[in-house]
Amino acid sequence: MLQGPRHFVVVGGGLAGLASATWLSEAGARVTLLERRGSLGGRTISMPLPVVDDVPDNGQHVFASGYENVFHYLDSVGTREHVRFPGKMGYRFAGGDVVSASFHNADAFLRRVPGITLRDRMGAMLATVRLLAQSLRQPADLDAITATEWFERLGMPRSVQRALWDGITIGLTGDKPDLSAAKPLADLMAVGAKQAVKLRTPISIGYPTVDLDTLYLAGARRVFAERGVDVRYRAVVRSIDVEDGAVTGVTLADGERVAADAVICAVPVWDIKGLLDQVPGHEAIYRAVDVLQPVPIVSVNLYLDRSIGMQEWGEVLYDSLGVLEQVWDRQKMHGRRPDKNYLYSTTVSASYELIGMSNDEITQTQMEILRRYYPEARDAQVVHSHVVRMAKSTITQHRGSDGARPGVETSVRGLALAGDWLQTGWTITMEGACQSAARAVEHLLGADGVRDEAGGPTVTLAS
Ligand SMILES: Cc1cc2nc3c(=O)[nH]c(=O)nc-3n(C[C@H](O)[C@H](O)[C@H](O)COP(=O)(O)OP(=O)(O)OC[C@H]3O[C@@H](n4cnc5c(N)ncnc54)[C@H](O)[C@@H]3O)c2cc1C
Repeated sequence: MLQGPRHFVVVGGGLAGLASATWLSEAGARVTLLERRGSLGGRTISMPLPVVDDVPDNGQHVFASGYENVFHYLDSVGTREHVRFPGKMGYRFAGGDVVSASFHNADAFLRRVPGITLRDRMGAMLATVRLLAQSLRQPADLDAITATEWFERLGMPRSVQRALWDGITIGLTGDKPDLSAAKPLADLMAVGAKQAVKLRTPISIGYPTVDLDTLYLAGARRVFAERGVDVRYRAVVRSIDVEDGAVTGVTLADGERVAADAVICAVPVWDIKGLLDQVPGHEAIYRAVDVLQPVPIVSVNLYLDRSIGMQEWGEVLYDSLGVLEQVWDRQKMHGRRPDKNYLYSTTVSASYELIGMSNDEITQTQMEILRRYYPEARDAQVVHSHVVRMAKSTITQHRGSDGARPGVETSVRGLALAGDWLQTGWTITMEGACQSAARAVEHLLGADGVRDEAGGPTVTLAS
């Protein structure tokens, strides 16, 4: 518990900043959270839509079964019950044929894909065993080759790559398999496999049963109010201030100084330049900005006048990559009552082509695809279409990117970094953001308490 007036400033109110502020306050620290925008949540937010009296998300966020630190955060703010792992998803073909399958019985899906022979499926099984083995004991060059090159090396039949693994790669790394390095995919498979053994549950994908604000913010706001965390909105930090090798606080864009004994800087990679100019060695951190480029995601919340007859909560559309990749049934996921309309959300990751189109063009493209894959969508009318273009959604994990990610520790006493882009051994995801926060907090508090200048313990971690 806090024994001295130590003051921690957290810069950035996305998941990494929220988790940092939550865990620091849990340990008894005095915390100020500075967020540049008028609201918290960063890249995981809901958006009020008065025209349909709804609060959809900025894009579907799914959970891999290997995530741990995100769940620790949800436990801390009391909302873990709102994540569900149903164990399977739908794979849908044009015309409406659909298979429900899980990771460990993907063969059920492959059996239905036209052109995939028995020989391909046997080859795929062997290649998948090799893939899991190499994920657990990784060859040294996985950060130097693309996912596609890795599949070829593993002997994954091209037909199975196209039908299954290209989509899995986009889903897990957020980028195209011929661009994404093999390493982030291998890392995710390794953690998923280890967790599956530890928890005795198969590798699977989960989803929130509530909107992202309820999941991530409602509990945090309650915890912050109870513990007196001072949240300041529209507080744009311009620099982290350093004197004699130790952090002294931050300066805001309007010139105000906020003094601090320790700072966690939890801004995205594209906002880091300029903030750390006083930190010795900041050039190496800034180099990450050139390597870790933003990847766009286009999501559309489609309010329709009728059900399109989805079989599963989420369905991957076979052979539609790049135009519409997944469809999410908000009625099934959120228990939403379709009194006035039905809400389906669509996701296109790595949407380099789509992002430049107009809202009408995007909506039209998505509806054309829905009509092709869902017979019940043929006559469906769009009540409202809410297009969310996030040019900066996830981050490229191309060849060599793993080595460009800096760690959470800095050369300055009392200063740590957090955010999904930092080196945690995890890919650039919500889990990466929370994991970096856990490491930053642990680093600043120390495993058994931070020592003040006189050497006495000032803060100890609450158990
Ligand atoms: C549409 C979409 C879908 C996604 N899907 C998934 C998914 O399915 N699974 C998954 O794991 N991940 C997914 N992600 C990625 C995930 O959302 C991010 O990895 C994670 O939210 C990043 O959190 P963060 O705290 O590191 O950064 P951010 O959420 O970007 O937060 C950083 C905060 O810092 C603030 N800030 C910046 N500069 C300053 C400054 N100078 N002063 C004060 N404040 C500042 C920003 O305003 C922001 O609030 C998705 C992202 C998007 C956009």
